[in-house]
Amino acid sequence: MPTPTHCPYCALQCGMTIQPGPVVAPRDFPVNRGGLCQKGWTSATLLSTPDRLTSPLVRRNGTLEPVSWTVALDLVAQRLADLRAEHGPDAVAVFGGGGLTNEKSYLLGKFARVALGTSHIDYNGRFCMSSAAAAGMRAFGVDRGLPFPVTDLAEADAVLLVGANVAETMPPFTQHLRRAIDTGGLVVVDPRRTATADQAAVHLAPAPGTDLALALGLLHVAVTDGYLDTEYLRDRTSGFAEAWQAAARWWPEQVERVTGVAAADQRRAVAMLARAANAYVLTARGTEQHASGSDTVSAWINLALALGLPGRKGSGFGCLTGQGNGQGGREHGQKADQLPGYRKIDDPAAREHVAGVWGIDPNSLPGPGKSAYELLDSLGSGPRALMVFGSNVVVSAPRASHVSDRLAALDFLVVADFVLSETASLADVVLPVTQWAEEGGTMTNLEGRVLLRRRAIDPPAGVRTDLEVLHELAVRLGQPADRFPASEETVFEELRRASAGGVADYSGITYERLRAGEALHWPCPDESHPGTPRLFLDRFAHVDGRARLVPVDHRGPAEPPDEQYPLRATTGRVLQHYQSGAQTRRVPELNSAVPGAFVEVHPDTAGRAGLSQGDLARVSSRRGSVLATVRCVPGMRIDTVFLPFHFPGEQRANLITNPVLDPVSRMPEFKVCAVRLEAVT
Ligand code: SF4
Repeated sequence: MPTPTHCPYCALQCGMTIQPGPVVAPRDFPVNRGGLCQKGWTSATLLSTPDRLTSPLVRRNGTLEPVSWTVALDLVAQRLADLRAEHGPDAVAVFGGGGLTNEKSYLLGKFARVALGTSHIDYNGRFCMSSAAAAGMRAFGVDRGLPFPVTDLAEADAVLLVGANVAETMPPFTQHLRRAIDTGGLVVVDPRRTATADQAAVHLAPAPGTDLALALGLLHVAVTDGYLDTEYLRDRTSGFAEAWQAAARWWPEQVERVTGVAAADQRRAVAMLARAANAYVLTARGTEQHASGSDTVSAWINLALALGLPGRKGSGFGCLTGQGNGQGGREHGQKADQLPGYRKIDDPAAREHVAGVWGIDPNSLPGPGKSAYELLDSLGSGPRALMVFGSNVVVSAPRASHVSDRLAALDFLVVADFVLSETASLADVVLPVTQWAEEGGTMTNLEGRVLLRRRAIDPPAGVRTDLEVLHELAVRLGQPADRFPASEETVFEELRRASAGGVADYSGITYERLRAGEALHWPCPDESHPGTPRLFLDRFAHVDGRARLVPVDHRGPAEPPDEQYPLRATTGRVLQHYQSGAQTRRVPELNSAVPGAFVEVHPDTAGRAGLSQGDLARVSSRRGSVLATVRCVPGMRIDTVFLPFHFPGEQRANLITNPVLDPVSRMPEFKVCAVRLEAVT
């Protein structure tokens, strides 16, 4: 029986139908209109991957051995209870994922704080959207990736796309940029000449780590070349004078010296945006994953506000979420500092509301915990046990060898996954769980639209859903069974109540409405509410209704190049793979297309290192080395190398990345570090 659902990978959440044979893509889902990328077309292959886990595994004498669910769950509950009793509740930590459904994200946060009583829960979305979320909150009072439907972009005459290679990471998205591309209105900011940059009328290629200076320079041009929307700034914003004071010294020629982007190109880009009838500024990980990521996104928002774009129909500012549930994953309480409904965990009213829904004393709720990298860094010396759901941190976390060492220092590691990922292979207990089409649940895509993922096939015998696992463990830890329901629909009903009145209000969204095909974007405060596809048309979400420009200044990469490490390394994704590759490396069509790590480098830079196309190179930073095959790319900057981050072992790009954190979002600086390039002899 054909079952309509959504792709298991990225935040676009393309509509697809699962049926016997390959998936098909219906034309009536407006986000992808019948289009899928290679990952989507081959996604059904994942459902029959031959190395699927179908039995819990327990490590005995150094080897993972199959056991019954009763043995595995009893062991996990007993070890967690013992560690808590001996060392206190913060001896146990939980790590979640931005690909988990809304229901799982919600129940995982509740499990950590109620069943375990720990403050230590965070998730891999900290590595993905946290800088954009922080900047969006301070500018607009609400963080929703795109505060407008993605289809609005189809009317854009000009789009400034910053740090997003959508032609490879989410190809069906590019149909919405068609008009801007065809009319010469696309400006791409990326240090690489990507497949997306190839379609741009203007490609600005700043040195990695200098985006903030570039954004300040474009604001400077907007002011000095007379493009400010003064009426909009007066009526709808505050803070322009302070933001301008910070940007005033960033003349285009000064910006050119720091970034390498020609002053004339800066002026051209701003003129294109300012003169367009409909214009958008969109950011993504390339500009966000920096130690100054929050300020960098604020600088792009400042530019958009100076031009009068956000909150105007046909124009706007947005961030392109990355992971499948990158938006919903950050709304329901698996972040260290948040409770469901996007509420702050240290807000007394928020604690009271959520504790009321959970039927507990608000004073028993733990406070904020450590952010993702800080949590991983503290394992062994802080938490002694870790439970991982929906994440493969051995590949995806920065300074990866250190993260592996910290996992090894734990007394007890539990991983729930559908295959033996690189992280699961280090665990004391592995719990085999269902994957996307074998379970139901909701996802919230990059435009804040809540989507139903339907169960299309029966899971293999021997696996359980994450919700069932949390239910079983909670009961074993002494919780009432009905406090941790295992049915996704029951969890969603509770999530609705927990989110009511919060920033991300789902209280009017029901499974019935989603089954009926309603397009519901949050906030949706009651069951007669049509949802809110466009935010900010009348007012922004701050109490005074105004958007805030935030004064920010450039501070450069935390680790600038030097004599020992003279190049800048940056990382990213390729068309055929997704995140840590735990899924896509198991799809033969995808894996054979890109079977291992490569390093993109300018031919002259390769030549100076004695390397040519196809050679094996070692790329080293102060934290480690990665092995990768050389790809000579004339469009690369001569001071920059690029590595994809999907591969395991010695090919892990995150062996070299810098875990220095953004002070606001706690985002690591994935996108730039100092490296040297050598031939492997
Ligand atoms: Fe799946 Fe994203 Fe590709 Fe769409 S663009 S098919 S959601 S991976």
